[in-house]
Amino acid sequence: MKTESLIEARWAELMQEASPAAKQLLVALCEGHAHEFATAFYTAMLQDPDAQGFLSGEGMVERLSETMRRWIDDILMNWEPSALPQLMDAQRRLGAIHARIGIPLELVMRGMRLLKQTIINALLGNAINTDHLEAVKMAIERIDMALEIAAHQYYASSEAEARKDEAYRNYAASANMSVERERQRAALFSWENELLHALVVSSGEKALTPISQSGFGLWLRHKANSIFPADGEFLEIVEATERIDRDLALLQSPDAPRASQEEVKRVIDLVSKETRRIREIIETLFERQINLESGRDSLTHLLSRRFESTVLAREIEISRNTGKPFAALLLDVDHFKSVNDTYGHEAGDHVLQHVAGVFIENVRSGDFVFRHGGEEFLIICVELTAQEALSVANKVRAAIQAEPIAISDTTKLSVTVSIGVAGYDGHPDYQRLVARADRALYEAKNGGRNKCVLAA
Ligand code: GH3
Ligand code: MG
Ligand code: MG
Repeated sequence: MKTESLIEARWAELMQEASPAAKQLLVALCEGHAHEFATAFYTAMLQDPDAQGFLSGEGMVERLSETMRRWIDDILMNWEPSALPQLMDAQRRLGAIHARIGIPLELVMRGMRLLKQTIINALLGNAINTDHLEAVKMAIERIDMALEIAAHQYYASSEAEARKDEAYRNYAASANMSVERERQRAALFSWENELLHALVVSSGEKALTPISQSGFGLWLRHKANSIFPADGEFLEIVEATERIDRDLALLQSPDAPRASQEEVKRVIDLVSKETRRIREIIETLFERQINLESGRDSLTHLLSRRFESTVLAREIEISRNTGKPFAALLLDVDHFKSVNDTYGHEAGDHVLQHVAGVFIENVRSGDFVFRHGGEEFLIICVELTAQEALSVANKVRAAIQAEPIAISDTTKLSVTVSIGVAGYDGHPDYQRLVARADRALYEAKNGGRNKCVLAA
């Protein structure tokens, strides 16, 4: 908002400042050329392969050119101070639309650059005097301000869109995966059965349902892509369904000779081979998804590392908005390799589970505990100063030391942890916070282990 009111003030100033001659030049320019500018603009933009995806389509250029012409009129001809709030609003709407459609901002900037060039060429093409130069300056500054407002809104809206997207993904991912897996297994099976029946009983003369039109096919097209990443394995399924449907279509095509027994058999073989492969991939994808579902590390049940960036970015935002502190603790089990070497990997796993439990017991429910990797953990203590977080760290360290871990009926093992503590220092990059905690952890290790060190 602050940025916007600065722009608004400057825009108002420009409306006052502009000399009548410069205004007159811009008005004449728009009256003579606005339509031409708009058409030239979109024609040039359409040469850009990135832009084509957004702009091509029946009648799009004409429609957009008309909108563009009105926009140019607004930006260059409207010198009425009372119109300023509407002008500002219009730019915000523009930014919101661009965000909703997902037009990359650099594409908009490139378009504006083209437009500015066209305007400069038109204004400076003839005899130049100071009025022309002033008109150019006015035109450019107003276009840039409009772009700034639109960009400001663009980011706000993109973020909102991303949140909606994220929320939907979460929703899609939180649907009970085991149930979903059963349903899709059944849907694929029932399509295949019906097809085989139709093929065997009526030798392919009865209408065959393409897999893309089956319940499974619809699910694949509309829902599966928000559950699974659209990468290699997923695309492999899509391609397999396309191959199946191509063969079914051939079998059914009106000018195909009546399908021979061999041909029907060939299609049946192909369908069972392809569906077997589809089934395998779907199983793998669901399996992976079910593991990811809770977002927790499978050994310790702590939050998985992949959420660290999201949580830290959000905590930084909260801290910047509220002024409340928070801190990061980076913890590493001391001499853990020797636990594995002496007692075996399983004992090592057990130690990790044990320390994870101690961490959870010693922080508040609003704090976040991540398995950072291997035998390293990251704790985010919300609304605590660095000093307070240091006390928490010492409490955790003491608790680990105080409680030997039973790794068999006869063996109890004492382990210790070293901890680096860093209070959030206002830097917007969360990696810096973790790096500071990491340096403090390194000092704790160097200082003899079983220690907590506060980062500079
Ligand atoms: P330091 O006191 O300097 O931290 O020494 P360290 O032995 O703890 O550190 P180092 O990084 O050399 O060893 C970490 C070991 O943790 C190596 C790796 O095999 C083991 N490790 C990592 N993840 C797991 C796991 O999930 N289970 C088990 N059992 N061991 C793991
Ligand atoms: Mg380590
Ligand atoms: Mg270690």
